Amino acid sequence: MSSQEEGETSPEITAIGISFGNSNSSIAYTSGEGKAEVIANEEGDRQIPSVLSYIEGEEYHGTQAKSQLVRNSKNTVAYFRDYLGKDFDSIDPTPCHASAHPQKHESTVAFSIQDKESEAQNIVTVSEITTRHLRRLASSASDFLGKKVNAAVITVPTNVTEEQREALSKAAKAAGVDVLQMISEPTAAVLAYDARPEAKLKDKIIVVADLGGTRSDIAVIASRGGIYSILSTSHDYETAGVQLDQVLVDHFAKEFTKKNKTDPRQNDRSLAKLKLEAEATKKALSLGGNASCSVESLADGIDFSSTINRTRYELLAGKVFGAFTRLIEEAVRKADLDILDVDEVILSGGTSHTPKISQNLQRLFPPTTRILSPSTLPTAIDPSSLSARGAAIQASLVQEFEKDDIEQSTHPMVTVTPHLRNAIGVMVVSEDVKKGLFTTLVEKETAVPCRRRGVFAVPREGGDVMVKVCEGLRDIKVSRKEKPKANGKPASDDSDLDSDEDEDEEEEMREKVWNVGSVLAEAAVKEVKKGGKVEVTIRVEADLGVHIEAREAGGKGGIRGTLGT
Ligand code: ATP
Repeated sequence: MSSQEEGETSPEITAIGISFGNSNSSIAYTSGEGKAEVIANEEGDRQIPSVLSYIEGEEYHGTQAKSQLVRNSKNTVAYFRDYLGKDFDSIDPTPCHASAHPQKHESTVAFSIQDKESEAQNIVTVSEITTRHLRRLASSASDFLGKKVNAAVITVPTNVTEEQREALSKAAKAAGVDVLQMISEPTAAVLAYDARPEAKLKDKIIVVADLGGTRSDIAVIASRGGIYSILSTSHDYETAGVQLDQVLVDHFAKEFTKKNKTDPRQNDRSLAKLKLEAEATKKALSLGGNASCSVESLADGIDFSSTINRTRYELLAGKVFGAFTRLIEEAVRKADLDILDVDEVILSGGTSHTPKISQNLQRLFPPTTRILSPSTLPTAIDPSSLSARGAAIQASLVQEFEKDDIEQSTHPMVTVTPHLRNAIGVMVVSEDVKKGLFTTLVEKETAVPCRRRGVFAVPREGGDVMVKVCEGLRDIKVSRKEKPKANGKPASDDSDLDSDEDEDEEEEMREKVWNVGSVLAEAAVKEVKKGGKVEVTIRVEADLGVHIEAREAGGKGGIRGTLGT
């Protein structure tokens, strides 16, 4: 039902958040209190498979379409998001080997499917498929909200090209959805957490690990004074949910072959059935210690039924789990940071439900790093819904703006603006205390321009003090300590992480320390009162010029200085 009359000139904007993935999509809206909620479609799904299937002209969407991968794979289109806006010659068709095959159409990608009642095969472009998918999502949201959804904020990967953005915007428009803004998937995940009422906004380094079905995307983000800057990203198309499905498919197929002397992987239909069940088994193993896998008439009319426990699964998938950990380590290194610099790891995407992935990260990062995932934090947000929630929050923020204003004022919310390579801090030195204590005032990786103010104690008796503004160089101090004897805990059920280190008698201790680098400026503050304090303000301009102001706290005047870039 539409709340808007035909012919009305300025339609009311009803905007939602859409996360559009190769495997699944989600839709979300913000309620009156600004809380983001994920909308279930007519079938009750919140993770809606990005799949369309056609039977005699009838269109099936989501889970119903996905189940058609067994009987009607040629008319079922799946894993198409990454093809949108791309040249056919640059795509990897592998994910579609068990569904409608991508083909070249005027240099772009299309599928040849029987989508009408007639027997004829039609060429349907990926753009048209996307339009149909988005139309179904918008329609589900409209039904739920009771008014016509006509706009959205859509999440996109960080490596999306301008052509892909344009193609997505056009495809959405054709579905009657005006794209207010596209925000990157990791930003959406950070927003979903930071917009919670209980969230304390503080400067932090966040790793967002978006582990999906066909790809894993990692982003290292600095949150400084409410501005997010992306420091590094990495993308891997070989380490994701389908590789975990494959581990289980191979395991069950071997078991079946041993008993029945026929390999279900040799037959497309048997393989499709086993894949769907193996994925369900994998999801069940995220929740419980055991899961079953049953397929009626798997191959040669023989039924299959088996169970697997989580320990066995984790052993079988050890290599894939190890690859997730390495991917995250690599992204941190790429940002020129150390594991010890990371304050938070947000696990996003469906595969992030897997407990073993979180456990490996708990072992990799120091205890001070918060790992936000369902198995490590009871208050964690469902990782499958983070992107859509973030998009919905952003949609509620921008839907009142004019389109041009959105581009101008909200686009750089996540930026790749210049940021400080080193921290800037302050040392207060007096006659009695020759060597002051270094206190960081502007954190490393802070996006510029920025301004920070700090109040520092001086020696109790007051008097003349020297304020030194210095660069802070973060260093990692490595020391070795004899390993405590095992306290009953088995040390080595984690095959891939640190099996080599387990051999060592000594444990490596790594800690973050600050070394004082070059002195940027010195200012003498005279005759500070007994028990007084000094106040230092540092402003770093976009061109990295630094302004410094130092005075007695509560006092007037003070000393000002400017340093060139
Ligand atoms: P991509 O674009 O990488 O294909 P996506 O963003 O479209 O992925 P997501 O919903 O984030 O899709 O991830 C889908 C993957 O997550 C699938 O492999 C699915 O099996 C897996 N998954 C979903 N729920 C769970 C769960 N509870 N435990 C383990 N894996 C899960």
